Amino acid sequence: MALSNYGISPPASSDLSSHAAEVLLQQNLSPPRTFTLAITSTCNLTCRHCWVEAVPSASPVRAPEKTLSRLIEEFAACGGEGVRFTGGEPLCHPAWLDLMKFARTVGLPRIALQTNAMLMTDNQVSALCELDFHGLSLEISLDGATAEVHDLVRGKGAFEGALAGIQRLLKGGLAPRITIAFTEMHHNLDEFSAVLELADMWSVKAVVAGTLVQCGRADTESLVRPPDPEQYVNLVQQYDTNPHFRELYQKMGTVAALEWYRHTTPRTECCTFIENPYLTPEGRLYPCLLCHTKDFSVSGVFDKSLAAVIIEGAPLWSSLKQMSFCRATAIPECRNCPEKVVCAGGCMGRAWGSHGILLVADDRCEVRRAIGHQY
Ligand code: SF4
Ligand code: SF4
Repeated sequence: MALSNYGISPPASSDLSSHAAEVLLQQNLSPPRTFTLAITSTCNLTCRHCWVEAVPSASPVRAPEKTLSRLIEEFAACGGEGVRFTGGEPLCHPAWLDLMKFARTVGLPRIALQTNAMLMTDNQVSALCELDFHGLSLEISLDGATAEVHDLVRGKGAFEGALAGIQRLLKGGLAPRITIAFTEMHHNLDEFSAVLELADMWSVKAVVAGTLVQCGRADTESLVRPPDPEQYVNLVQQYDTNPHFRELYQKMGTVAALEWYRHTTPRTECCTFIENPYLTPEGRLYPCLLCHTKDFSVSGVFDKSLAAVIIEGAPLWSSLKQMSFCRATAIPECRNCPEKVVCAGGCMGRAWGSHGILLVADDRCEVRRAIGHQY
């Protein structure tokens, strides 16, 4: 679509960044802060819950290193604060480490790597130790505290491999940079406290959980599904009645359902488009990590400047944001729901991922109501 379609005159290229900032302001959108780059579609695993359906591949899709470097540089120049490298498995991209170093040289204050840690070598750990700074974050997937539970989703040997990678990083002194990423599922939520124990033993920084979104491979795999609301009610009761669990949780844990229980503050803002944009290895940009609807994305990003992408996407994301503002009144079951002040229909991206519709309650609605009964 031409810029004139938006009532905007095309700027000279040197003015493009400031023009993009102006357009965002006009459209009441936030400037991008954290840029998630899915640098490859391939992975060493074939997890049952993979929402991007990554697989091992001899001819993987990889975002070109030079293009990624250019986008990272442009992002830093636009005032971006952090990049997160993900995949697939980012370690399957031969340039992942160089890209992280590059992000540091352009001055980005936060650099994160999302990995299953299985492919991490001693040399790579040494390179990460050289790169180490307070803004480095190593987000390692661990979906259980035992091989039986973790491998049910990730495949035989995955738990052992993850632990080997974590041990290498611990040996390198990187424990304070490690966050354990735990996907909440029906079969593993009861192991969350055991994962906290492991994380505490390793002295890592945090354990951050996220509820499984039933999309991608998780939509077709019968063995994985999100936890039942009763499991979250049990978790709340564990928090209330078990001081050791509560202490560990407060020290390093984050589970949305427990946070809802702990902080029943009204929701003051809705979707934050486009603070956290997400780029696919094929060069399509979505306005946030979870809201993957093609109608609100920009394609062909590798052939455009980041500023041009922002200018192109801004009107789309603005209409998406307006839609997010009216969720609590537009979604019939939300209208008279006592939770709507703190929930407002939940996350539109999760609604899209699990139901393929933007204007419906998200997939955690029942959990939200069950937790509401615990206040
Ligand atoms: S769709 Fe969900 S993840 Fe995306 S900005 Fe909205 S609330 Fe956040
Ligand atoms: S709990 Fe469910 S019905 Fe209530 S506001 Fe949230 S999404 Fe809507």
